[in-house]
Amino acid sequence: MRPKPKKSLGQNFLKDPNIRRKIIAACDFSDEDIVLEIGPGEGALTGLIAHRVKKLTAVEVDRSLSSALSARFSGDPRVTVINADILKYDLSVASISPSRKLKVVGNIPYYITSPIIEHLFSFRDRISAIYLTVQKEFGQRIIAKPGSEHYGAFSCYVQYYALPRIEFIIKRTCFFPVPKVDSCFLKLEMRGKPAVRVDDEDLFFRIIRGSFQQRRKQIRNSLKTVISADKILRIFDSAGISPTTRAEELSLLDFSRITDEISRACY
Ligand code: SAM
Repeated sequence: MRPKPKKSLGQNFLKDPNIRRKIIAACDFSDEDIVLEIGPGEGALTGLIAHRVKKLTAVEVDRSLSSALSARFSGDPRVTVINADILKYDLSVASISPSRKLKVVGNIPYYITSPIIEHLFSFRDRISAIYLTVQKEFGQRIIAKPGSEHYGAFSCYVQYYALPRIEFIIKRTCFFPVPKVDSCFLKLEMRGKPAVRVDDEDLFFRIIRGSFQQRRKQIRNSLKTVISADKILRIFDSAGISPTTRAEELSLLDFSRITDEISRACY
């Protein structure tokens, strides 16, 4: 008998064969690709990926699932199954060399979507593209542009390093057990260099996070914890941005200008 899916590990297995095919088509694999699959589970995608690519490493935290997959692919030299937590996995091990970039694919556990993206981005020089199944609303947040209700600090973070696109929507009924919400298939194409140039990246992200903590407030008020009131107006004047703008209206370029002015004035 099959073990019960583990809710604690976000196990919602992909059952719909059409969606599996659509995912594989969207990833546009070639026989030169080096691929990392996150959370292969029972192998819904693994077998379809394996025979299209040069090398596939599949990282699964559930030992019973990874053992079953290892046995299934034991005769296939292209596939390596690793029993590990993806958040602790060193991606450089999966790539052949620093110059051969990885494609990363996964119908991932939703409860750690943001940490997974952050972990992958810490290896961004090694990755060409990331393809993930995420909750639909999360996907909308990632692709959101200034002025959208979904736009926030995480949209800025992802768009700084990658070009995100929702490829298609996946109905919740395509999974077992059926989750509470629909999903989408998201592509993050890694940028060769970040979307904007900024002097101090840490400060840039601190400013973005601080600004969105009170997204409806005027930016001059939300940044009071970062810059003293006497400097604020001059900084916004030099950056060419109105201090009454709200965070949700500011683009990455606006945030980079604000950051550079603050770094010049305060550090
Ligand atoms: N890819 C399979 C599919 O499409 O049917 C399974 C998808 S299921 C949503 C997520 C998978 O990720 C599960 O197999 C789960 O055990 C695994 N998983 C959960 N947390 C993980 C982690 N930290 N590292 C690696 N795998 C993880």
